Formats: sequence, structure tokens, C-alpha cells
Amino acid sequence: MPGVESEHLGRRRPEMSLKEMPMPAAPDLPVPMRALLAGARRKQSALLDLTRQLVRAESPSDDKAAVDACIAMAVAQAKALDGRVKLHRQRGFGDVLEARFGPKTKAGDAKPILLLGHLDTVWPLGTLKTMPCRLGEGRLWGPGTLDMKAGVAMAFTAVEMLAEARLLQREIVLLLNSDEEVGSPVSRPITERLAAGCAAVYVLEAAQGLAYKTARKGTGIWRIEVQGVAAHAGVDFEKGANAIRELARVVETVSGWTDLKHGLTVSVGVAGGGTKSNVIPAEAWAEVDVRIARKADGARIERKFAGLKAADKACALAVTGGINRPPMERTRGTQKLFRQARALAVELGFALEEASTGGASDGNFTSALGIPTLDGMGAVGEGAHARHESIVVEHLAPRVALLAALLAG
Ligand SMILES: [Zn+2]
Repeated sequence: MPGVESEHLGRRRPEMSLKEMPMPAAPDLPVPMRALLAGARRKQSALLDLTRQLVRAESPSDDKAAVDACIAMAVAQAKALDGRVKLHRQRGFGDVLEARFGPKTKAGDAKPILLLGHLDTVWPLGTLKTMPCRLGEGRLWGPGTLDMKAGVAMAFTAVEMLAEARLLQREIVLLLNSDEEVGSPVSRPITERLAAGCAAVYVLEAAQGLAYKTARKGTGIWRIEVQGVAAHAGVDFEKGANAIRELARVVETVSGWTDLKHGLTVSVGVAGGGTKSNVIPAEAWAEVDVRIARKADGARIERKFAGLKAADKACALAVTGGINRPPMERTRGTQKLFRQARALAVELGFALEEASTGGASDGNFTSALGIPTLDGMGAVGEGAHARHESIVVEHLAPRVALLAALLAG
């Protein structure tokens, strides 16, 4: 529903600045919503500047030096906001940043909130030359704007607003990783360990349309290799065992496991094999993408892949892979977080929807641990991983205000 937020926000009310607001005497007093919104609007250009700075530090997951340079900017920002910074050093990937804001959690306090994001992108170095970071048509364009440098800038802005309004009453942990786009191999254990000590996880990935995400599918990747027997297709046909024919049969089998009704999909994305048309191929292979909506389907599908057998006894199968991210199921805890967010959005003047997606994020890991997780709390825009990647500027302020309100609540 494009335009919902802006429509409501068009009716501007008299605004007080954050600093003029009477400070709440007790933490259970309502959060000053209109002041938060006004504060977010005043910070919009600084937020855009920070986003631009992060986008101009190109940071493909596979380039440690480049990702580290981008992470260094986030470290500087966290320190400027009095964050307690810890870098989790990595060898093969960029370092992972943990920054803590607000009072340290003591025994008996409410547990911290985890803000989760990543600073790596899918874009190689040099992309900015043909896809520059620029403002135009009400959007900020460029590689990594939507996925998810604007979301990271939004997190910093929300923390800054709360600190200025003295609403930072519980500890906030910001975790920015360096390897999300390649499956979070090194950051996953850090994410899981920090999430386990937190009351809730807010993921700053891009919105789904205008909606927050309360469910995501889990993902799996498999590789299937078929070993057959090569032979001259004319002279020795009967001595050969055709690996491509065998692979075709396997592709048909695994594709048949798709169960759309239950959100299970199996898709062979790449395949190859053979050498020359007159040679019976000895080798063939395929890579398979699997998505699951229900946790239980993970083990089920893993068993099925493990049980694959060649129909042609002269062929051998080698099957590797597994479920990489469990699904983020729409748990009660997540639904409760969403209801809070929706109620606060109404006070800010817009209707917040909830959505589910087939794409996975690090929210899948935290949700699978049973920690209430809200996702898609970052920027609104289009074109993640695509040439037209961009964020819509007018949605930044209301969503930062909402994030701040949730963190204060
Ligand atoms: Zn992302």
C-alpha cells in the first residue's frame, strides 16, 4: 500500500522539540510520540549523510579490507554516541561490531534489546562508478542503500534520539555483522549468543513494502553430483552410463518434493555436465535451493536428500548440503512485539502492516532460539540486489520514530 504513511503524515500537528519535552518522571510514562516524530524529521538529513557515507564505503562480503573500512565508520559513529564498543575480529571476513548503549544491565533489570544488522553487500568494488549514490525522485539510490546501510543509519539515529531525550533507560545492543550476504558463517554464533541474553531482537533489514516482517522462510542449499561412465556415443553406447540422464531423473524427484500449500519449495537453480555431444557424459551436477516455512520440514527434507539413490546402478550420487537458516516462524512473542509496534505506529499517524517473506535473514537464527524477533524494521524501498536499489526518503523519519518508541517502551 504505497503512500499510506505519507498520507497520514501530511497532516502535520504543532510539534515540540525533543529537548523541550518534559522528561518522564518514571519509565512507565508514555513515550512522547509527536516529539519523537519531530526529532526524527530534524535528524533526517544527518541520517541521509550517514547512509551516504556508509554506501560510499563499498563493502562486498568477500573483501575483508573493504568491509572493515565500512565497519570502522560504524565504530566511529557508535563511539560518538558513547557506545561501549567491542570488535569481534575475523580472519576471512570483516570484523563484527558489537556496541552497547544506555545503562549496563544489572541483575533484576529488564534484559537488553538486540538491534541486528549487517554492513556487507552483494555488490563488488567499483559498482559505484556505474551505480552512483545519489538523491533523486524522492529516493536515495546506490548499492547497499536498502540492503541495508540505511537501516544501520536508522538504528544509530534512533539511539541518538533516545539518548538526547534521556529515554535510554535499558541497555541496547547493536550488532553489525560482515557476512550476512554469504550466509553468516562467522557471525552466526555471535548473533545467537548475544540474542540469547536479550528480551527481543529488532532486525533492521528492509521493509516488505511498508510492512514489518513477522515470518520468514528457512533456507537450504544442496549440491548433487552424479558420476557416470564415459563412452563413445556411437561406438560403445552400451558401455556408457549417462550422468546427465541420471541427473535429470534426480532433478525431477527433488522438484517433486515442493509443497506450496505448506510453504515448501525445492528449486534446481544451476546445473551442468558432459563434455561433447558424441561422448556419453561421466559427470553432471546441480545446485538446489530449498525454502521451508515450518521448522519440522527441515529435518524431513534433509532425510529425503540423504536418501537419494541412483536409478542406474552404474551411476553414483554424491549429495552434500543442508538447511542453512531455520524458518522464522510467527511465534506468540513476535506477534506481541508486532502488536506493540502497530499501536505505536497509530499514535505516529500511520497504519503498520505485517508480512511474511520467502527470503531469510539473521532474524531466522534469533527467532529459532525462541527470542521474539521483529524484522523488516529498516528502510522502505526497492531493488535489493538489483541495479535500481533505492530507499524512499519520506518513510525514514516515521520509521525511525517508531523504532525509537519501541526501544523506549
Ligand atoms: Zn540484508
